[in-house]
Amino acid sequence: MGEPHYKRVLLKLSGEALGGEQGYGIDPNTITAIAREVKQVVELGVELSLVIGGGNIFRGLAASSKGMDRASADYMGMLATMINSLAMQDALEKVGVDTRVQSAIAMAEVAEPYIRRRAVRHLEKGRVVIFGAGTGNPYFTTDTAASLRAMEIGADVILKGTKVDGVYSADPAKDKTATKYGTLSYLEVLRKGLQVMDATAISLCMDNSLPIIVFDVTTDGNVVRVVNGEPIGTLVKE
Ligand code: UDP
Repeated sequence: MGEPHYKRVLLKLSGEALGGEQGYGIDPNTITAIAREVKQVVELGVELSLVIGGGNIFRGLAASSKGMDRASADYMGMLATMINSLAMQDALEKVGVDTRVQSAIAMAEVAEPYIRRRAVRHLEKGRVVIFGAGTGNPYFTTDTAASLRAMEIGADVILKGTKVDGVYSADPAKDKTATKYGTLSYLEVLRKGLQVMDATAISLCMDNSLPIIVFDVTTDGNVVRVVNGEPIGTLVKE
């Protein structure tokens, strides 16, 4: 078998991706299925890091719209991403994948602090690194954390795993005329307000020419397909 198309990747999963059918909490079957996919990718020799959102547990913006202080709510959201990160670490280690969680907020008893050089070293040794607690700053999202970390570790691409098979001109669940894009430029995403990642994350990728692939992570084998360079999903680049 040939070399995988991408050597070092960052996989971004929304918190909802761990929630299975219901979309909230952590579904054991769903997280195990994702862990198995990740294992296959690691076995191809790909260096894989992960950023997981927290939306299945807590979202800062939603809580602040109901009256909570935004910064406090965002810190709660970041803690939610740590819960997901630890759950994913457990699932990965159960299937035999060495994993380290690095947190952007100090919590020495449960995770390593985020140290870029150490993260890269783990990857070189074939370990999966999960970056928890987002960027460590309120008013940001885990999409931005994914872009930032991907840049820092020199990832070839951000793989944004979602429940739909790419980026559409409208919501395919609501609009039958919606069409899927094969490729898009960063500017098109920003101008059309397409749901890829938030604008901060997209601009960061644009400034640093980091490609993003949006794909359906709920279909078995798709993560392997993406790292092998199969044209599934939507590619966002210059
Ligand atoms: N968050 C934050 N700073 C960050 C990353 C995340 O404040 O750098 C908070 C924010 O409140 C966000 C929550 O953590 O709503 C969960 O992350 P996100 O909404 O990105 O999760 P996803 O939608 O991917 O599940």
